Amino acid sequence: MTRRRPRQSSPSPYWANPSIPGQFDLAVLKPATLASGQRFETLKDVRARRKRLRAALTTSSIKAVRYFLEEIGACDDVEPCGQPYCPSCARQFRRWTCAQLLKLAEKHPRANKSIVTVNLGHFSGGTLRSADPAKAASALRKRLSRSWMDGATVAGGIEVAWHQADRKWRLHAHLLVIGVEPEAIESIRRGEGDLEIDEFRDPAKQLSYLLKFLTGHRPIEQTGPKKSPLFPLPRQRLIELISWASKFGPSEFLFLYGVRRSGRNLVLTRRQNARSAARPTAPARLRRRKRKVL
Ligand SMILES: [Zn+2]
Repeated sequence: MTRRRPRQSSPSPYWANPSIPGQFDLAVLKPATLASGQRFETLKDVRARRKRLRAALTTSSIKAVRYFLEEIGACDDVEPCGQPYCPSCARQFRRWTCAQLLKLAEKHPRANKSIVTVNLGHFSGGTLRSADPAKAASALRKRLSRSWMDGATVAGGIEVAWHQADRKWRLHAHLLVIGVEPEAIESIRRGEGDLEIDEFRDPAKQLSYLLKFLTGHRPIEQTGPKKSPLFPLPRQRLIELISWASKFGPSEFLFLYGVRRSGRNLVLTRRQNARSAARPTAPARLRRRKRKVL
């Protein structure tokens, strides 16, 4: 059964037409003068993406795809359609999210920060409909609260990517983790390949990758530091992705822990404020827990 997202109506959603100071604005930090793939998508890029999506999907008779095409066809800045894979809405949502993440990182200049990727599950081609980003987010929040990351501030995005080699969708979260050391982050690992932890070193670049709505895939395995090229998804997989995602709004792909949205801003939760003020640093806690175990 398809769960329909209600059509956005005025007032505009919290992420639409954001007024963002230049130091937090991806459109300024990754300007149109950069090469495609390095710049933040421009309005011209958005138009080109919409045209490509329409061309790829136009002959599909699947209801959810027809609905998606209608929505993105009627989408504009005044009344955004709110489809996560609408190039225009995705651009606005990413711009708002990244500005909030940049602000969050700046608020904690001395805290430990890491960029973390967590596996949330695999789905064979044709079964993506059983994936639920909200349920996956809820399970991840539980996992964090039961780990040594309990006191961390975590924000980022949930993403699904197609892997041609094993013909599976991989649901995963890309996260900015603030306030705990990598050793504490390791405590949520469930197995090899389940978790990736990177140093936080390039805020605009790394945070812009945390939340994406890609309609491409990388069939060639990455061998060096440079990502392998992005190819358009096979049409059947694109239809599967759009049919699935048309049930959701972009907010369902935003992951927050220890932080919540208040109007157009992300704010730390009260629990988090109280805890971070009272709790010792992560390494001290770790040492103490390790001693208990020994
Ligand atoms: Zn839209």
